[in-house]
Amino acid sequence: MFELNLTERQKKIIEIVEKFQPITGNDIAEKVGYSKPTIRPDLSLLTHSGILYAKPNVGYIVNEQPLGFTFDTGMFSAKVKDVKSPAVYVQEECSIHDAIVRIFLKDAGTIFVVDGEGYLSGVVSRKDFLKSIMGKMNIHNVPVGVIMTRMPNIITTNDDESILDAAVKIMEHRIDSMPVVEHVKEGHYRITGKISKTNLSQVFVNIGKLAEDKGHN
Ligand code: ADP
Repeated sequence: MFELNLTERQKKIIEIVEKFQPITGNDIAEKVGYSKPTIRPDLSLLTHSGILYAKPNVGYIVNEQPLGFTFDTGMFSAKVKDVKSPAVYVQEECSIHDAIVRIFLKDAGTIFVVDGEGYLSGVVSRKDFLKSIMGKMNIHNVPVGVIMTRMPNIITTNDDESILDAAVKIMEHRIDSMPVVEHVKEGHYRITGKISKTNLSQVFVNIGKLAEDKGHN
């Protein structure tokens, strides 16, 4: 399994950027006590991995949306809570039309559905919406509850599941996303976010770039 530890110099660079950001590559080199060409591979690795962000004409800053896990613990042990993103959801009574509008407004793919008490009750994907339109449903009157995939048939994940296990579930069930849930009581789950193919692709791209950089150094 691929695992990467940051070098002492890379850790020092992060500390310097945290303290002096935004800071240029030359200033980082001076403060860390190495030449610019020496630290160039470090800066490349730290930016590719999403730890630092190189702002054009300004300098390096610490990325406010980091991968969310440390490189010391090993990439694949990262947890769902480290990479999840906000979930978009509507009430079961919401019309198909309004749910579609919400999907566009929030730039989402899948939309989750909650019952009157706020517990997860369903999932509606893009194809579910297309089917309802092709089936000539009255999208202004019919609620999403009619077309959603319903509990208990929803594949979910939770904060402490590894991203690898989450990815396996998504592939095995051939779905685009899963709600991240918190178990409240028997059969009742609260949505705390989502994990999608997009989240996971971003993680694997970052890991790939790190591996590539490491190979070049
Ligand atoms: P698309 O319809 O855009 O291909 P998906 O592959 O995610 O998107 O959805 C396929 C079907 O699986 C849909 O009918 C959808 O309701 C259902 N589905 C989507 N996500 C889940 C999930 N997490 N658990 C169970 N069923 C899901």
